[in-house]
Amino acid sequence: MRTKLHVSAILLSLTMLLPGTSAVFAQTQYDLLLRHGHVVDSKNHVSAVRDVAIRDGKIAAIEENIDPSKALKTVDVKGLYVTPGLIDIHVHAYASTGEKNSYAGDNSVWPDDFTLRTGVTTVADAGSSGARNFEDFKEHIIDRSKTRVLAFLNIVGAGMRGPKYENNLSDMDPAVAAEVAKRHPGLIVGIKTAHYAGPEWTPVENAVKAGTMANIPVMVDFGTNWPQRPISVLLTQKLRPGDIYTHCYSGLRNELLPDGKVNPGMWEGRKRGVIFDVGHGGGSFTWRVAVPAIQQGFLPDSISTDLHIGSMNTGMKDMLNVMSKFLALGLSPDEVIARSTWNPAREIHHEELGNLSVGSPADVSVLRLAEGHFGFTDMYGARMDGNRKFVCEMTVKGGKILYDLNGISRPDWKTLPKDYTNVGDPRWDGLNPAHKKH
Ligand SMILES: [Zn+2]
Repeated sequence: MRTKLHVSAILLSLTMLLPGTSAVFAQTQYDLLLRHGHVVDSKNHVSAVRDVAIRDGKIAAIEENIDPSKALKTVDVKGLYVTPGLIDIHVHAYASTGEKNSYAGDNSVWPDDFTLRTGVTTVADAGSSGARNFEDFKEHIIDRSKTRVLAFLNIVGAGMRGPKYENNLSDMDPAVAAEVAKRHPGLIVGIKTAHYAGPEWTPVENAVKAGTMANIPVMVDFGTNWPQRPISVLLTQKLRPGDIYTHCYSGLRNELLPDGKVNPGMWEGRKRGVIFDVGHGGGSFTWRVAVPAIQQGFLPDSISTDLHIGSMNTGMKDMLNVMSKFLALGLSPDEVIARSTWNPAREIHHEELGNLSVGSPADVSVLRLAEGHFGFTDMYGARMDGNRKFVCEMTVKGGKILYDLNGISRPDWKTLPKDYTNVGDPRWDGLNPAHKKH
């Protein structure tokens, strides 16, 4: 009797010390533990079976063996890849305006519809908004999404609203773009120029000026190909080291020469530090360019989707499908994962992301490498066969499980009390936390 009272008193005092936390949970060191997965963390040169422990939304430990009794929740991810949350630096996610035929409108998608279910925890919108509509984009999309949405600001003040706007040389003020970018450091991660149909260098030059003023990179969609502005000059003279050439396997701007060789300007640009990004899209990736380029050793620095309504159901589909295309092209899973995590994180100057260092935000993707007969199509509808494909099993963002394809983090219903309700805990569960009952 005395002992019981004593224990109760301790429990009571612990509960009082930690309001909202029960005494039993107070003994655990970690909120979430992913056990026995194959961790690929390119920044830290880890590609091995490791346990990953998370606490308070941060990576707390990565070790060969972490005692599950130290964790509130343990998920067995044996046989699966555990990677930093995927980062897709080329999407169009400004879907909220209602404008027809516009990437600042109907051509964009809502980010949460496509991201977490494919292991993507961070996206960068590639220039859908410009200096005059960025605040609207931020208010309606960025601030309301579970996905971390960052942005390249279009050098065009009106944003990506169609040729009438995007070819208007008088609406590409570098000082105005830089000013808006500087107002949102870390959120606006670069300047975008895209779709320009004329032969002038003005859009590229003004984008680089804005990028220099705001100290951020420029991403280039090089628009219509003109002999007056060849890609070799762009890559060897106009862009700075760290600037990003997207759509690098489109073949639309002499990326591959008629003799089947990668344009020497691409190699020269890479030597100078220009970054090459996939930006698959609806019309920017073809096997007849990608295959010879990869065979010649011209690999992408980053893999990205160019997600929009014109790419989501065609050859692109989603981030994992584009990543799987590079498996079919002969890259290893580790090479593909590096180009979808740590490389893009560095390109957008967010080095806290894309890695699993202790203390980093606990954005984690759990991927299955499925084997079977798969087909992957390009912008022209040509197919390449492959036998491996990434599938997203689980996505964790900020330490919370936000997607779980097969319920691997969930108890079998038959093991629960007859009248069970929500079984999660808000410290690890972003799907059905116990405190949220409907
Ligand atoms: Zn795009």
